[in-house]
Amino acid sequence: MTLFKEINSLQNYIFSKKELGNSIGFVPTMGALHQGHVSLIKQSKSENSITVCSIFVNPTQFNNADDFAKYPITIESDIDLLEKEGCNVIFLPTVSEMYGSSQITKTYELGYIETVLEGKYRPGHFNGVCTIVDKLLAVVQPTTMYLGQKDYQQCMVIKIMMQQHYPSIQLTICPTIRETDGLAMSSRNRRLNTIQRQKALKIIETLNYIKMNVVVGNLLQLKKDATNFLQNNGYKVDYTEIADATTLQIVDDWDGEKPLVALVAAYLDTVRLIDNVKL
Ligand code: AMP
Repeated sequence: MTLFKEINSLQNYIFSKKELGNSIGFVPTMGALHQGHVSLIKQSKSENSITVCSIFVNPTQFNNADDFAKYPITIESDIDLLEKEGCNVIFLPTVSEMYGSSQITKTYELGYIETVLEGKYRPGHFNGVCTIVDKLLAVVQPTTMYLGQKDYQQCMVIKIMMQQHYPSIQLTICPTIRETDGLAMSSRNRRLNTIQRQKALKIIETLNYIKMNVVVGNLLQLKKDATNFLQNNGYKVDYTEIADATTLQIVDDWDGEKPLVALVAAYLDTVRLIDNVKL
């Protein structure tokens, strides 16, 4: 595995590999790697001759300074894990390598999608995400990029950005990997203490409850029950929503036809957890 910290040297490497006809799979991450990330690496390896994984904790996508300061960093074990998985390249840039001296974000025309759910509760988040993914795609120029369904709305946002700026790069969305008890794997899970880790299961319980109880017609009571369940278990809930799985338009009255997704974002103390399930 080759490790690059500079854009120029990575670009030279990629250029030489592409000239020889190699396909490039790309997995962008913020590190503190777990089996969810590994599943993306495996998918990329199975479909490409070269797999590039980036680890970069992007400051401009954090709208909460404390969340940024407490984001877990485990570089040594991340490198070991990527080596073990047979990843070919790791890109580990500094903030100044990616942003220069000022952390300026570009503005993207994302439309409705950035006004709801994560977009509503984390203002500026998706512009920060698009800015860094745009910069990374410009450097790596992969054949295919791999993202996880765990960040459902992020996948949709990046898809829109890519249609506008990188129409020839493929996007593959991989299923959410869960712990054996159902908790969606996440780097932020490392911040949960034993009691919180147990309580964190209430998120998937809520999503499964919605899945079992969704009916044609009015969904408001179901959403309210789901929110109450989380609040009664000590969560501060940002949203418990049911939306059109293809547009993320909020669905309060289901016609029985539209594909649906249930999405939750809620805090356990200061740790914000998100998850989703297609219904
Ligand atoms: P992150 O390091 O959290 O920015 O995530 C990097 C990539 O891994 C994103 O595309 C995530 O959606 C994906 N990812 C994170 N957690 C999981 C998971 N449990 N299962 C599948 N993919 C995941």
